Amino acid sequence: MKKQSRVVVIGGGVAGCSALYHLTQEGWSDVVLLERDELTSGTTWHSAAQVTNFGMNQTMVGLKSHSIQLYRELAEDPDYPINYHHGDGGIRLANTEAQMDGYRHFASVARGMGVEFEVIDAEECGRRHPLISTENLLGGLWDPHDGDIDPAQLCQALARRARKAGAEIYRQTPVTNLRQLKDNSWIVETPKGEIQCEIVVNAGGYRCNEVAAMMDVVHPVASMEHQYFVTDEIPAIRDADHRMPLLRCPISDFYSRQERAGLLVGFYEQDCIPWGLDGIDPNFTNALCPNDLDRVVDVLDGAFARMPALAEVGIHTIVNGPITYTIDGAPLVGPIPGKQNAFCITGLRAGLGEGGGHGWLLAQLIVHGEACYDTWCIDPRRFTGHATVELTAKKAVEDYQNEFRFHFPHEHRPAGRPMKTTPLTATLAAEGASFSEINGWERVDYIKPAPEFTETLGFRFNEVHEVVAEEVQAVHTGVGLAEISGFNRFEISGPDAQNFLDRMICGKLVRRSGKVGLGYLLNNQGMLKAEATIANIPSTTKEPDRIWYGSAAAAEYHDMDWLSQAVRADEDVQIQSLTNDWTTLVLAGPKSRKVLAAVTDADWTAEAFPWLSVREANIADAPAVVMSVSFSGELAYEIHVPNSHLQSAFAILREAGIPHGLRLFGARAIDSMRVEKSYLHWKSDILTEFDPIECGLRRFVQVEKADFVGKGELESRLSADPKSRLVTLKIDCDDRPALPGASIVIGENVVGTVTSGEWGHRVGFNLAIGFVDASITDLDVNLAVDLLGTRVPAKIIAASPFDPKNIRPKN
Ligand SMILES: Cc1cc2nc3c(=O)[nH]c(=O)nc-3n(C[C@H](O)[C@H](O)[C@H](O)COP(=O)(O)OP(=O)(O)OC[C@H]3O[C@@H](n4cnc5c(N)ncnc54)[C@H](O)[C@@H]3O)c2cc1C
Repeated sequence: MKKQSRVVVIGGGVAGCSALYHLTQEGWSDVVLLERDELTSGTTWHSAAQVTNFGMNQTMVGLKSHSIQLYRELAEDPDYPINYHHGDGGIRLANTEAQMDGYRHFASVARGMGVEFEVIDAEECGRRHPLISTENLLGGLWDPHDGDIDPAQLCQALARRARKAGAEIYRQTPVTNLRQLKDNSWIVETPKGEIQCEIVVNAGGYRCNEVAAMMDVVHPVASMEHQYFVTDEIPAIRDADHRMPLLRCPISDFYSRQERAGLLVGFYEQDCIPWGLDGIDPNFTNALCPNDLDRVVDVLDGAFARMPALAEVGIHTIVNGPITYTIDGAPLVGPIPGKQNAFCITGLRAGLGEGGGHGWLLAQLIVHGEACYDTWCIDPRRFTGHATVELTAKKAVEDYQNEFRFHFPHEHRPAGRPMKTTPLTATLAAEGASFSEINGWERVDYIKPAPEFTETLGFRFNEVHEVVAEEVQAVHTGVGLAEISGFNRFEISGPDAQNFLDRMICGKLVRRSGKVGLGYLLNNQGMLKAEATIANIPSTTKEPDRIWYGSAAAAEYHDMDWLSQAVRADEDVQIQSLTNDWTTLVLAGPKSRKVLAAVTDADWTAEAFPWLSVREANIADAPAVVMSVSFSGELAYEIHVPNSHLQSAFAILREAGIPHGLRLFGARAIDSMRVEKSYLHWKSDILTEFDPIECGLRRFVQVEKADFVGKGELESRLSADPKSRLVTLKIDCDDRPALPGASIVIGENVVGTVTSGEWGHRVGFNLAIGFVDASITDLDVNLAVDLLGTRVPAKIIAASPFDPKNIRPKN
């Protein structure tokens, strides 16, 4: 066995084989795969192996398209052809209008990636799948590219090509330990000897946490038992002149595809069980769990009613095997949080369909540091301190029970909640708060007008529209108070702190004590990596000058890794996370100054504490750091309070607000107001696929600065024509929001994608933010946005339709 390699991939299922193959495609041939048994001996060998194109965001659609393209190429390889039934087509059924709307939206999302889905009615579903009953159906989504593949042949084909390109694969070679050396390289221990490598990749499938333990980390991955059966021959299939399409049924929680002249039918029963939580037998290899069809009787009846032919045919084979889940159902593909030179490709629950694409994106991340798509939706750092295996198991059960019921906009399912709370959560709940969950944090979405108020989930404006309108009105004309839980906050200190930040940020770093500035961090390709509020907190008798770095709640691990891994050996910089110790209250609206003045001694006039200032203050007895910054476009103060004093600071502000009509408000109102200001949201509008110029952030870039991360690459981009530009759109309809991912079109051509959209309650019209082709410069061009299957007319308007001169926060 080799003693040295650039990369060691651990695990020879579809994830590991795809990662290995794609590393060679990115030009790294000095790569090794270690497999404890035989290739595909984990979950992969017994997979139902359906390959679909469906995704709920553009990255998922794009990576699945890559799988399909790659599998077609492999199937057609004359040297080693493999069995891939491509293009049987597939239907996702629906029996509610809200589901149909969802399919219309996902068709719009896919169109932007060059994939055409069709939304079809019940009759057409029956026509395309002759074995189904259309009883109580409304229709479905047709995916023309669906098919299935032979999993073992797929992995062998990937392994074969990887080997040809220089990769080496060692079977019967379990990794027993991992040691990281001072230079961040790894020693991979196996019974056959050690390999030293630059980078390790955990592709250990349901054993990924055995490998993770060797690195002292835990992946939020848990397995569920999952069953399908294969029937005997069905005459109607045997005699049909085409293969049966795939079927996914959210009504009765089953799927099916053709297998020989019968059907393979898989179930997502309510009475489902996690697997392997107490450890996995080392001998469980090439193995299955015991059959247990009794467990799926709850869904069998529905499947039989939908496909009556099932009732008349025998069962040939039953398969019950472990399938991995994460907290949100998407896998973990990318850098392992808190580690250097360590990546994972784990938690794949549709690894055959997606594996080709995940391996492709992972290889790009390893070799180039970034992939062709923004990979946040699969980034392992999107989960932070709450991400235990126990929580994952609870979410896995919930996800499994709802396998084909996609999340609606603003749907936050209950399992495992509350995860992360602040001392105020219970108080806000008692005030009637409806919570969403962001990076595990309970965050107030809006305040319910009555205790029994519930939101009708769907893709159109609903009863929450009016509630948000009232919250916005209160903030706009008076004063509102909101808690922003989990806001990410690092204290950056040390003699080199400012110079370090100056190097990380592409624009002018605000260094003056008492001042706050917004900064953008680029990656090594000159694209947008992160957004931060930098606050220079003046010294007091208790504390010296301090720098606070603030960013989105979800960014905690992502930004910590990016910053801490960039500190040079000769720099004296310390980064400490305060995220879990402090919470932000936002006081916003023209009367916010009066409320603040009532509870502190300080002078809050615009002269004494102008826009973009920061200082410490006491909210009665509660210590606080106050910043005059605004995401709403109104006069506003961010009041950062240690959690020990959060309850008292909140109570004091709330009481002081009573004479001014203070109203509590939530994230939905903030989102509407920030879209009216064309303010961007990290990982909605700020993506690694765009540079700051394309994003309209020219004023935050200072190319003349001596150096900053991504400078050279940004300069080269600036010398070429931009590909896209970010615009604000006025949308000509009042019954539905422009949801992220919707396609922007001119005639039949897709020319862009919506990244954010909300009704603008202060401006009184529907708004979206999105990227369009940079060639579109004419403001009068007739655009449309494909919203739920309707081409809704849209116009590009000047950014910040509300208070374009930004006068309100400054007075
Ligand atoms: C019943 C069932 C039906 C399914 N149907 C579909 C479907 O229709 N479509 C679809 O896309 N997906 C489907 N899936 C899911 C899909 O099969 C998985 O997502 C995929 O196989 C996971 O691949 P993997 O490489 O991540 O894991 P695995 O296939 O489990 O591979 C992990 C490998 O790592 C090795 N390993 C572990 N620890 C070590 C170590 N210490 N040293 C060396 N090697 C190690 C293991 O031996 C194993 O070979 C199904 C799953 C099940 C259970």
